[in-house]
Amino acid sequence: MDAISYQRAADVNCAIAAVQQPGAVFVGGGTNLLDLMKGGVTHPVTLIDVTRIDALQNIETLPDGGLRIGALVRNSDAANHALVRTRYPLLTEALLSGASGQLRNMATMGGNLMQRTRCGYFYDTAFAQCNKRAPGSGCAAIGGFNRMHAILGASPQCVAVNPSDMNVALAALDATVQVSGPRGARAIPIAQFHRLPGDRPDLDTTLQPGELITSVDLPPPAFSDHTHYLKVRDRASYAFALVSVAAALQMDGKTVRAARVALGGVAHRPWRASVVEQRITGHALSAATLREAASAELASAKPLDGNAFKVGLAQRAIVRSVLLAAGQSGDFA
Ligand code: SF4
Repeated sequence: MDAISYQRAADVNCAIAAVQQPGAVFVGGGTNLLDLMKGGVTHPVTLIDVTRIDALQNIETLPDGGLRIGALVRNSDAANHALVRTRYPLLTEALLSGASGQLRNMATMGGNLMQRTRCGYFYDTAFAQCNKRAPGSGCAAIGGFNRMHAILGASPQCVAVNPSDMNVALAALDATVQVSGPRGARAIPIAQFHRLPGDRPDLDTTLQPGELITSVDLPPPAFSDHTHYLKVRDRASYAFALVSVAAALQMDGKTVRAARVALGGVAHRPWRASVVEQRITGHALSAATLREAASAELASAKPLDGNAFKVGLAQRAIVRSVLLAAGQSGDFA
């Protein structure tokens, strides 16, 4: 067991100063970090506990009508907040489909954004090959058990997927991640927050060293009436997505006026289904239109030996989720 030290930060500036120490990391709910520490995947020297920073605990309306959710708001509290439930029901659905009740009571918004892939080779240090855990060592999943892995945007270095449900909804909702660091504060659009693996799969996000997530900002609600989060998984609860689809629509009768669709479980980051969005916007919604759009979206998929089923599964999940978001039957031939 490694010796670690523990410090509690009183405010954002104290936290940012404290994490400059070699080997220091932030800890919020700890639901992922402690797993990583117990498994010997990560070896922090000092834990900077940020959970007592009052400024990061709030949910508040922004001047433009959007919503700011503090980075330390627990997933359960965010999901069940009246403003989230009524204005951003897609986020509530996604949050409540993740993990278990106990984990959602501990996990924070910031921690959920930062949770690491669930690739088994990443967590099992008995496997020497994992470029994410040990850069340059190889990727055991490419020739190994890769049923849960990526079909889009992967690289020869890493085929892992982002495991979060919340992140998929945030991608569809065009959220912004607010951060503070040694060089000040900045806003990162969610589409630029998580990375594809490329040749640096050890980096999950575009956060710079020492930066702390302070909030997740949602734009003014424009997709409250027609949303659906569909999660396809091996069992009904406490399982990561094989494929998930966050769908949010604006409808004029049966015509799609605007669409936001994002996929989970298929790539190293939430995958914005922009091809689907473009092909259905301005058109009457039908299963046939959606099937064609979903097929085009997955045209660039590169499945591995163990996950070719995900291509068709993702296509069917897109069709079903968007139809359900529109209030139509999700059953289609
Ligand atoms: Fe490691 Fe990524 Fe390969 Fe999994 S897919 S073994 S996380 S490099």
